[in-house]
Amino acid sequence: MYTVTQLIGGVWGAGGDDGEFVVCDPSDGNRVSTAPIAPADEVDKAVAAARGMAAQWASTPAAERASALLRAAEAVAEVADELAQATTAEMGKPLADARGGVEAGIATLRQYAELAPARGGRTLHGDPAALDFMTPEPRGVVAVLTPWNDPVAVACGLLGAALVTGNVVLHKPSERTPATGWLLARALDSALPAGVLSLITGGPETGAALAAAEVDVVAHVGSTATGRAIAAAAAAGGAKVLLENGGSDPLIVDAEVDPVWAAEQAAQGAFANAGQICVAVERIYAHRDIAEDFVDALVERAAALRVGPGRDPRTDLGPLVDRRHRDQVHGQVTAAAAEGARIRVGGTLPEGPGAYYPATVVDNCRHDLTLVREETFGPVAPVVVVDSFSEALRCAADSPYGLAATVLTRSMSHAQRAWRELPVGTVKVNAVFGGAPAGAAHPRRGSGQGFGYGPELLDEFTAMKAVHLQAPGGGHW
Ligand code: NAD
Repeated sequence: MYTVTQLIGGVWGAGGDDGEFVVCDPSDGNRVSTAPIAPADEVDKAVAAARGMAAQWASTPAAERASALLRAAEAVAEVADELAQATTAEMGKPLADARGGVEAGIATLRQYAELAPARGGRTLHGDPAALDFMTPEPRGVVAVLTPWNDPVAVACGLLGAALVTGNVVLHKPSERTPATGWLLARALDSALPAGVLSLITGGPETGAALAAAEVDVVAHVGSTATGRAIAAAAAAGGAKVLLENGGSDPLIVDAEVDPVWAAEQAAQGAFANAGQICVAVERIYAHRDIAEDFVDALVERAAALRVGPGRDPRTDLGPLVDRRHRDQVHGQVTAAAAEGARIRVGGTLPEGPGAYYPATVVDNCRHDLTLVREETFGPVAPVVVVDSFSEALRCAADSPYGLAATVLTRSMSHAQRAWRELPVGTVKVNAVFGGAPAGAAHPRRGSGQGFGYGPELLDEFTAMKAVHLQAPGGGHW
């Protein structure tokens, strides 16, 4: 059982005047952690305390900040096992996946520590007697609001980039993974000057208070509805908003691909982390020529997944994060079935404790079903049969989201059409989770705004200043 404490103004255990909340293990319902709920006035005090440290951290040499972040990455590495265990206990994913998320987070911290001091501004070709240049400066106070589905990897990216560029940061982890956020903050704080990082805990109200507080940037990774509420709240105070939000990523399965290989790709995309990944496969457009064989193979793979608690190394499919979320997933599946879709495997609520939901394949879907158009965030693969690649592209593009898309095809001209025509941040051809290190993209429409990853995230957390330096009276200094 974890007892989470807050870190405010460099002091652990501060605040928590609004009581506490409890997190239960989604595999068995047992209590895992308790954490304080920060009310709005406490959030404001924490922001004021953080601002008190901003000038000092901003004027710390870039190399010194980078060294501190490298030491922080080592401190996180020392507690990697503990972090992975807390992630699995709080949100349910298989331990090996949780460990992978922690490793990814540590790698990102190290990457930002290496990259940040090497980045700079530029000099300009102005009057030769003067000096003109552009230099990046920290933005000041950054609020970071993160989700539960990959809590360490996502938080490390935002925290690392914001801190190493000289900002002070207040992190509010998801109310579903507060102990994971607490363990991470303890490790980071051990290597940073006191007060540079704060940890605030609580639910949506605490998050809303932070988004409305006097901060300079609000960086949010989470659902689209929350992102929109944050953008509205931050607009009142003029803070910059960075949003990495929900998606409904399509997978196009072209004619002539091997249906068994395509089913492996689809299963990986739809069922990894029980479908609780922002770039999970949320809807599948399969060409009529291969659709039947493809769906049969996908059903077989779904049925073969071993369901169990994340801490059991044999588990392929852990529980969903909680029963509230499971009800939402199941609601979308049953609504689709009521409208004529056919549940080929899964789609039933299991008996017993926990928030388990089986890997589910639904065929005979129409493109306009909520199950197809909206983010489900569960282990569900809805299949729409299409008659041409053009129809598949048209359906894939017709979405309120624009995060990523995958195309499985043997045709180079189809691959070229896909990356040119799909209005999404990332297009992957023939690899459902493909991508090079440090890749970053702009999400489109409901999926967010700004770079949430990659070296470009360092720029998001700085503001460029243009300087003109000239001697008085046009003479010499
Ligand atoms: P969420 O938006 O509900 O919560 C994320 C954070 O925002 C939490 O800390 C939460 O407390 C806070 N929050 C909630 N309501 C708030 C409000 N009104 N004002 C301010 N803060 C508020 O999201 P979630 O359920 O934790 O995460 C799942 C979602 O995250 C999915 O939609 C998924 O696609 C998305 N996600 C996106 C990416 C990406 O990179 N695009 C990555 C991971 C997850």
